[in-house]
Amino acid sequence: MKILMAASEAYPYCKTGGLGDVTGALSQIFAEDEKNEVVLFIPRYKTLNLGSFSPKSVPGSFVVPVNGKHKRVSLSKASRGRLSVYFVDNKQYFNRDGVYRDSYGDFGDNDERFIFFSRAVLEGAKFIDFKPDIVHCHDWQTGLVPAYLKTVYSSDAFYTFASSVLTVHNIAYQGIFPADAMNKAGISFADFTADKFEFYGNMNFLKAGLVYADRITTVSPSYAEEIKNRYGFGYRLEGLLRARSNVLSGVLNGIDSGIWNPADDPFLKKKYCAKNFRAGKEANKTALQKELGLTQDKNKILAGIVSRMDYQKGLDIILRTATEFSDKIQFVVLGSGDEWLSEGFRLLAAQYPQRFSFSRNFDEPLAHRIYAASDIFLMPSRFEPCGLSQMIAMRYGALPVVTNTGGLRDTVTKDKNGFVIDGAEDDKMRSVLGHIVSMYKWKETWGNMVSDAMGGDYSWSRSSKSYMDIYGRLIEEKNRMAF
Ligand code: ADP
Repeated sequence: MKILMAASEAYPYCKTGGLGDVTGALSQIFAEDEKNEVVLFIPRYKTLNLGSFSPKSVPGSFVVPVNGKHKRVSLSKASRGRLSVYFVDNKQYFNRDGVYRDSYGDFGDNDERFIFFSRAVLEGAKFIDFKPDIVHCHDWQTGLVPAYLKTVYSSDAFYTFASSVLTVHNIAYQGIFPADAMNKAGISFADFTADKFEFYGNMNFLKAGLVYADRITTVSPSYAEEIKNRYGFGYRLEGLLRARSNVLSGVLNGIDSGIWNPADDPFLKKKYCAKNFRAGKEANKTALQKELGLTQDKNKILAGIVSRMDYQKGLDIILRTATEFSDKIQFVVLGSGDEWLSEGFRLLAAQYPQRFSFSRNFDEPLAHRIYAASDIFLMPSRFEPCGLSQMIAMRYGALPVVTNTGGLRDTVTKDKNGFVIDGAEDDKMRSVLGHIVSMYKWKETWGNMVSDAMGGDYSWSRSSKSYMDIYGRLIEEKNRMAF
């Protein structure tokens, strides 16, 4: 089958969070199957990590209409095994520092940037003559693609047999812009209604995708339920999601077990596997304590955090409770994002440099070292669509401490492969950290939990099969309708 993936980020070229991990891994996995032909489109940001990949310019260029003007698109192409990656280039939109924002906040022209990208994907597929069976889009940045297919492109023969899938990685981010974005997108104002593009007086890109996509998936079964039925979780799209529940399902993300493998991780001081984790984790812990200037003591519990600094992640709870445990637990935090959270961790690290460490940046190698060195990994999210970090932590034998929500609920089992609290609240965190401090001494029980966590299957194989089933059914339906 011919699969076109459209996303605003994909690892290893560009990643700001789990979205990039997932789109990068899925495209690669689908492409490995010889029955598939897979093409991935992502923007050619200035900050792209091209490493050893050298994309070749695709000869020629084409234009797409944005805001009543013709904007030029040039493509470059890189191959990763059987996967073809097309980078969509336009200097005005993508040649700047930052992917979605700079230090002052979101870029003011994000509507135009992703209108441009969505149109460029649909025209780009024609340009390279790739007629897809499936167009798989991700999050609000590509939410307009399914909408274009059912409006502007509805009678375009090139896409007659294409079905669209939209995956919601985080419904809190919807791409909401003033109504004028309809004009910029070239979509008729007749469709600016509450059942289509309009959302409380604005245009909502994610909503457009949810209305028009043939299938909607989200990244865990529990999150699929929560966004329909739990108050506040659907960010005012609960009604629409309930109306479309016949085409909505949750497919749990996996992690790339090639990249996240403590037995073969080039960033670690000592590689280890489930059989010899004690020595491996100890060596990595001591090395990290030394690297970050923490007291070097293997008996201290090391708690890791690798996260976006965002209210969603519940990290303010750690800020308020951590000092009560800092004689027993060292806290190592890596993250970037909201100023108030970063400032809180910076102050803790400045006040107690041997017990707290805070690195305020995006640092892939350090993230690997933290997962490997940590005994526990803190992720008390207020909501969590899937969460990859808790799975990575388990693979590295760091027991996750999580709330009972979304993908955390679907991957962590209380006192088996991690610790679960039933709400992002200070007292619940206090109580679980107290429990952990006493449990850490029971080496055998702790070891059993670590073995359990490390032995879990977090790979993509199960999930990629679910996506293939979804694609297969869509193609069948299209064929039935056509003949
Ligand atoms: P989200 O997508 O909400 O940010 P996930 O848990 O799904 O959260 O995915 C987070 C991914 O981003 C993980 O791979 C994690 O290791 C990585 N990550 C988050 N913050 C950083 C950072 N500051 N430096 C390096 N990696 C990070």
